Amino acid sequence: MKKKVAVFGSTGSIGVQALQVLAFQKEHFEVEVLTAFQNADLLIQQALVFHPNVVVIGDDKLYKKVSSALEHTDVKVYAGAEAVWQVAQMESIDLVFMAILGFEALKPLLAALENKKPIALANKESLVVAGDLITEKAREKRTPVIPVDSEHSAIFQCLMGEFDNPIEKVVLTASGGPFLRKTVDELKGVSPEEAMRHPNWKMGSKTTIDSASLMNKGLEAIEAKWLFGLNASQIEIVIHPQSIVHSMVYFVDGSVKAQLSPTDMRIPIQFALSYPERYGNQLERLDLTQHGRLDFEAPDIKKFRNLALAFEAMGKGGNLPCIMNAANEIAVRAFLRKQIGFLQISLLVEKCMEKLPFIQRPTLDDYFETNRLCRTKANEFIINI
Ligand code: MG
Repeated sequence: MKKKVAVFGSTGSIGVQALQVLAFQKEHFEVEVLTAFQNADLLIQQALVFHPNVVVIGDDKLYKKVSSALEHTDVKVYAGAEAVWQVAQMESIDLVFMAILGFEALKPLLAALENKKPIALANKESLVVAGDLITEKAREKRTPVIPVDSEHSAIFQCLMGEFDNPIEKVVLTASGGPFLRKTVDELKGVSPEEAMRHPNWKMGSKTTIDSASLMNKGLEAIEAKWLFGLNASQIEIVIHPQSIVHSMVYFVDGSVKAQLSPTDMRIPIQFALSYPERYGNQLERLDLTQHGRLDFEAPDIKKFRNLALAFEAMGKGGNLPCIMNAANEIAVRAFLRKQIGFLQISLLVEKCMEKLPFIQRPTLDDYFETNRLCRTKANEFIINI
């Protein structure tokens, strides 16, 4: 029996790579649903190649374009944000691959969990914002959430076969991004183009900027807290410029497990799809003699303020990670549009964390309201930052 997969966010960087994996593993998988927000051309092209049952274009202004291009096929076409979370409940889906970017993933993700759809989770913001609600729902519905992010996939793989053995701590590795060796003074003038030149990974623009500012690692620390039931003191960040060791788990007996692989996201993507099995593939193999050495060093949290802010948000909890995430999404967009400088990303995030009302035990509605309010405020703060 082939697994029927719904790929949410199929035209983004991770979505495209997920479809590559599904294409070379087609004896195991069928594509049941594809969704995209605005990239109608690529969605149409993907629909013609993979013949899904349903496609959804999030931006309903593009409905006509997609439906007329697929008129001659039997692919059903829907449009709008409403449709995105409705298809997450389709009976025929065996596995949801969630690669929608940002806060927008939260609603369809919860809808899929409510309907007991196992999740391969590539979206990090949903866990950062509402990790409590997601993990609670997954537990209640006894539905697995398998991480796609390379660091969390690494930890997840290290924990296989460990059952309830206690974890002393986890170490998330970070490449350090393109600005690892720059001074604070040099960081003042860096451009979006420079920030987009990541040394190891090919990613979408939001994640690439987050990697340059180390916010990506901050988001990942909070993700790890929820995925593996850890507290802030059990999570450590180590800079590892080669990105070969994807993360490590320290056990209480002093033993450490790590997972290594080439820097190719299709490896953790495939594992999230094939779990608990492993399928063969033709991807590049790791040759450690080619690398010769693997380096590790402590991160500079004075230079990369976002890391300190993320640990503060994780420690205090409540809606603070939601505020941090919303402020960061606005800050990154403003940086890409050259409205603010690179160092002002952290300043804007910090200002929002100080100024927005703190809620210790937020409901889902509180998260939506915090997200909305913080975006409005962040846009106002940009002018004076
Ligand atoms: Mg990662």
